[in-house]
Amino acid sequence: MSTKATMIRSIEPDENEVPARKEHRSATTAGWIEVIAGSMFSGKSEELIRRLRRARIARQRIQVFKPEIDSRFSDNHIVSHSEIKHESANVRTAAEIRARVEANTEVVGIDEGQFFDNELIGVANELAERGVRVIIAGLDQDYTGKPWEPMPQLLAIAEYITKTHAICVKCGQPANYSQRIFESEERVAVGAAGMYEARCRQCFVPHADAPTIHPD
Ligand SMILES: [Zn+2]
Repeated sequence: MSTKATMIRSIEPDENEVPARKEHRSATTAGWIEVIAGSMFSGKSEELIRRLRRARIARQRIQVFKPEIDSRFSDNHIVSHSEIKHESANVRTAAEIRARVEANTEVVGIDEGQFFDNELIGVANELAERGVRVIIAGLDQDYTGKPWEPMPQLLAIAEYITKTHAICVKCGQPANYSQRIFESEERVAVGAAGMYEARCRQCFVPHADAPTIHPD
């Protein structure tokens, strides 16, 4: 094992899901696509930020994008529910990501992938083919439990998939669904605690439901 390989190993001690990127890549090196998908409150943004921070420690050139619709916490950061942040740029379309990724960028992070148009599939493929590591986090289902495009397509083309789970607030099992607890037929209703709950398959109701009453 070379010195360089050892060095990369030492800063990527538990990265068994994704191979460590070499410090310098040639023009012919292919990139890849990673998708982090799950329900609300499952730690998707937190996992995305964790990977971006590790890439930064490895001195890789990073650009991060989020859809303009998601300005609930911060205009120029992606923010997890546990308030971990990473700088990001707001974009309106997937085409805007394509236009704004610089030639020497090595890692592209994209949060809230479900809010982008289907062109994100082509953009992710193009970037990966160009040698970029593309990491996309997003909700894989809407509040009715329906797969939320373009996430299903992105899951299909990704080399690496991480499915994150929240904890069901009703029963404590791993939760795969975002339960809406207010009346609205809109698919896009950006919200946070108080508007949605994490629920498991047994406890999920595929329309608006009453909030869970907690004993405390
Ligand atoms: Zn449950």
